[in-house]
Amino acid sequence: MEKFIDLRSDTVTKPSKGMLDAMLSAKVGDDVFGEDPSVNTLEQRTANLFGKEAGLFCPSGTMTNQVAIKAHTQPGDELICDTHAHIYINEGGGIAFNSGVQVRLLPGDQGRIAAKQVAENINPSFDWLPRTSLVCLENTVNRAGGSYYSLRSIQEISEVCKKNNLKLHLDGARIFNALTETGDSPMETAKYFDSVSICFSKGLGCPVGSVLIGDKEFIKKARRVRKVFGGGMRQAGFLAAAGIYALDNNIKRLKEDHLRAKKIAAVLEKAPYVESLLPVTTNIIIFTLKSKITSKEFISKLSKKGVQGIGFGPSMVRFVTHLDFDNAMLMKTLEALKLLS
Ligand SMILES: *Cc1c(COP(=O)(O)O)cnc(C)c1O
Repeated sequence: MEKFIDLRSDTVTKPSKGMLDAMLSAKVGDDVFGEDPSVNTLEQRTANLFGKEAGLFCPSGTMTNQVAIKAHTQPGDELICDTHAHIYINEGGGIAFNSGVQVRLLPGDQGRIAAKQVAENINPSFDWLPRTSLVCLENTVNRAGGSYYSLRSIQEISEVCKKNNLKLHLDGARIFNALTETGDSPMETAKYFDSVSICFSKGLGCPVGSVLIGDKEFIKKARRVRKVFGGGMRQAGFLAAAGIYALDNNIKRLKEDHLRAKKIAAVLEKAPYVESLLPVTTNIIIFTLKSKITSKEFISKLSKKGVQGIGFGPSMVRFVTHLDFDNAMLMKTLEALKLLS
């Protein structure tokens, strides 16, 4: 049988030959002792790129987010984020489980909260109110169709945080997708955040890994939390080498993923089975089906034509374009979507 075209997620990519070669020839050591040269290089290069002092390599983006939340808060604190946030919906209740922190959910504009909303939801310092200590943004916003923040609104939120002594964390799982569209530099974006989590296992095509960046003191604390969470890895340089390769080779090409996503969106806009489509601005396509077909039925029909998507609830479907989705696959996907009725 022909290979499936897998648009379920940008996590489905397999390491390329070049990446595998880089991994195989990686210099390694025991990273719990801080002696893995490849991990140290990836951490420092990522930090430098974003203008931060230090980095911490973790097995997943869930871990970098959760380590950051733990390092920024005390049990009983409250953090502020959008209703779509990955940290709230997709990390297994980790905010409560790992940090004993509760969440103030704000309904943003396609996953993007505004400074005014943040300001209105900071608790005054009465004994009986949870202490608001952290604001978390996501960029791009996965569940809101890959929308991204403007630098202006990040700056405004950061001002509110500074004024109120709150830390600001960025779940930048897809930060390079956002920067590809805004054209903002990594440094001018990251300077507004106390910490940023960056996934290498999504659009960048690595098999494993995320890096958390921040100042030296924060990363020192985060390193201890990572160990407590069981994320201290030994010869992790084989994995970090994939990340270094990705920094050198896989960032510039992200625009291609966005252009292909737009082509899929153009077909879906006209498709008889689509009720509505979130604006497609990066590599994520989320659409709602007309009531005559459920997402489960749609996905099953489409997979018979060789294309896989993922259901987001009973009537929504998500596609994500990525490094292993080329123009030939795009043509086949467009055909398949046009043939469905
Ligand atoms: C994928 C993702 C993460 C991290 O997920 P892992 O699978 O744990 O690496 C974090 N935030 C967002 C928005 C994501 O899409």
